[in-house]
Amino acid sequence: MTPDIPIPSRFHTATAHPARVYDWLLGGKDNYPVDEAVGEKLPPEARDAARQNRQFMHRAAAWLAAQGIDQFLDIGTGIPTRPNLHQIVQQITPTAKVVYTDNDPIVLRHAEALLISHPEGVTDYIEADVRQPDSILERARAVLDFNRPIALSLIALMHFITDEQDAHGIVRGLVATLPPGSHLVLSHAASDLYPELAEQVTAEYAKGGIRLGFRTRPEVTRFFDGLDLLDPGLVTAPEWFKTAPAPAPEGSGIYTGVARVP
Ligand code: SAH
Repeated sequence: MTPDIPIPSRFHTATAHPARVYDWLLGGKDNYPVDEAVGEKLPPEARDAARQNRQFMHRAAAWLAAQGIDQFLDIGTGIPTRPNLHQIVQQITPTAKVVYTDNDPIVLRHAEALLISHPEGVTDYIEADVRQPDSILERARAVLDFNRPIALSLIALMHFITDEQDAHGIVRGLVATLPPGSHLVLSHAASDLYPELAEQVTAEYAKGGIRLGFRTRPEVTRFFDGLDLLDPGLVTAPEWFKTAPAPAPEGSGIYTGVARVP
C-alpha cells in the first residue's frame, strides 16, 4: 500500500471524475476546473442532495455500529470528507474494521486520510472497480472475516453502473458472499422524484463524460431483493433515521435503504 504516491499518468485532469465532482458539491478542495465546470452547471439542489446523502451515511453507519456490526466494506468511498465512515463507527466500536474501495486514482491519492484508523481498529483501502467484484472480495478477505456479519455500503455508487453493466447482478453477487446478519446499506439517485432535475443532472454529467443512470423506485427496490428491508424502508435520504426526527425536509432526490441478510 502506497496511498500517497501520485500516479501522474493515471491522473486525468482534463476530464471530470465522479469523486471530484462530488467533492466539489460538498464544498471540498480536491477537484479540478473540469470537475467544477460540471458541478457549476448542476442545479443548486445537487449540493443539498450530496449533503443529505452524506448525512444518511453517517446515521446508517452509526446505527449499524450500535447494533454490533464491526466490519464494513464500503465501495465507492469518494474523496475523504470528515467524518468518514470509519470515524463514525470507531467512535462507537474502536475495534471496528473498515475496508474502503474506489476506482478513482484521486481517491487513492487521498487514501492516507482513510487509513488513520483508531489504534484499536483497522482500516484499509483497495483501489478497484465495483464491476470487478471478485478482485475486491479477494482483497477484502485479507482484512474482514466473512464468517461474521459485514455491512456492505454502496452509497451513491450504483447510479454510475448501468443495466448493461449488470448493476443488479453485481450487488446480488456481492451480497451473496455475506453471512446471515450482514447488512446492505445503499443510496441511489432517483429518476422519478424530480424527473426534470434528474434529466438535467444526467445531461450535465454526460457533457463532462460521466455516464449516470438514475433509477426509479421499483428499480432501486430490486437491489434489496431477497433481503429484509429494515424500517423505515426505502425512503429518501433525510427520511432515513432511527432515533431522531428527520433532520431536513426531503430535497435529496436520493433513495436510501438498509437491509439485513437473512
Ligand atoms: N460514497 C461516498 C461518495 C459517493 S460519490 C458518499 O456517498 O459520500 C461516488 C463514488 O463512486 C466516487 O468516489 C467514484 O469515484 C466512485 N465510483 C464510481 N464508479 C465506480 C466504480 N465503477 N467502481 C468503484 N468506484 C466507483
